[in-house]
Amino acid sequence: MTTSLVTGGAGFLGSHLCERLLAESHRVICVDNLLTGNRQNIEHLFGREDFVFVEHDVTKPYEIDEALDNVLHFASPASPIDYLELPIQTLKVGSLGTHNMLGLAKVKGARYLQASTSEVYGDPLVHPQPESYWGNVNPVGPRGVYDEAKRFAEAMVMAYHRVHGIETRIVRIFNTYGPRMRPRDGRVVPAFIDQALHGRPLTVFGDGSQTRSFCYVDDLVEGIWRLLNSDVREPVNIGNPQEMTILEFAETVTRLINPDSKVTFKPLPVDDPKTRQPDISSARKYLGWEPTVPLEDGLVSTIKYFRELLGLAEKPPGETE
Ligand code: NAD
Ligand code: UDP
Repeated sequence: MTTSLVTGGAGFLGSHLCERLLAESHRVICVDNLLTGNRQNIEHLFGREDFVFVEHDVTKPYEIDEALDNVLHFASPASPIDYLELPIQTLKVGSLGTHNMLGLAKVKGARYLQASTSEVYGDPLVHPQPESYWGNVNPVGPRGVYDEAKRFAEAMVMAYHRVHGIETRIVRIFNTYGPRMRPRDGRVVPAFIDQALHGRPLTVFGDGSQTRSFCYVDDLVEGIWRLLNSDVREPVNIGNPQEMTILEFAETVTRLINPDSKVTFKPLPVDDPKTRQPDISSARKYLGWEPTVPLEDGLVSTIKYFRELLGLAEKPPGETE
């Protein structure tokens, strides 16, 4: 049986990844210190013989007495609010955590997959962003703790590949959304859904002209699965190229939840990227992958999850929560 270790497996993406690996008949070891994730995301997997949860901080060395085929390093605070509140933990999990997990993969002769991010491109000056773009990151700005940790992680992964010959993969994940995001994690998808469901104004930062491109979690996980099983060692962007302004996104959420929702404008966070859109030519070419879930379908599933989580029953159109 193939055994895969997933760090950050109790988080939003990690929990979906654990499920997918189990569905592919892998034995899954989920390692998480519950810093920004939670047990509820994986509770339904407890009791399975092919699933093990280990509460552990991966910035500390980790040893395990069994063979591993894959190590997938997803542990890291990921929402801007989280990594601004946890700057040192963010830097440590991207550096020390990556080093520890690469060391583990080396000892076990396992394949290693690194969760990287579109933030390695910073506030991009090239649009859309291909993997060949080196980025525009402010190393000493507040977002630098996340961006530079991920850039360091990528460099470390390539060094382990070149020096130790371990099999490595790097996925650059663009804004992904779906069930199991925390309603108050500060990212725009959960923030707007939570606000619209409660009849509060949607907080648009800046004038809302900045753009993002949103990918549904199932599409992302499919891309990661294909990358893991490919022989592509260079970083690969996985994201949905359908780009929109944040104001357009607010209108979409409003239309789906509560057409009477208002918008309120708040200051734009420091170094907030003005545009972001993945160039997915590599994923198309090497993985035969492209997203398939339309934004509105993905949002409907996410909104359903939030309603259940928050105990809010569906109301007939026109009525607010
Ligand atoms: P998340 O906060 O839901 O999950 C992160 C998980 O890592 C949490 O369960 C947390 O408890 C765990 N963790 C953090 N530090 C740890 C440590 N030192 N030891 C063990 N566990 C630790 O966030 P997410 O959105 O699921 O992000 C998962 C990964 O994907 C991150 O590496 C993130 O950088 C990357 N990513 C996500 C997105 C996105 O849109 N969701 C975009 C780009 C990159
Ligand atoms: N944003 C917003 N209102 C919010 C949260 C975020 O307007 O309540 C904006 C944010 O300034 C950014 C975009 O939405 O331009 C996406 O933010 P998010 O935190 O989801 O992710 P980012 O892409 O910045 O990492």
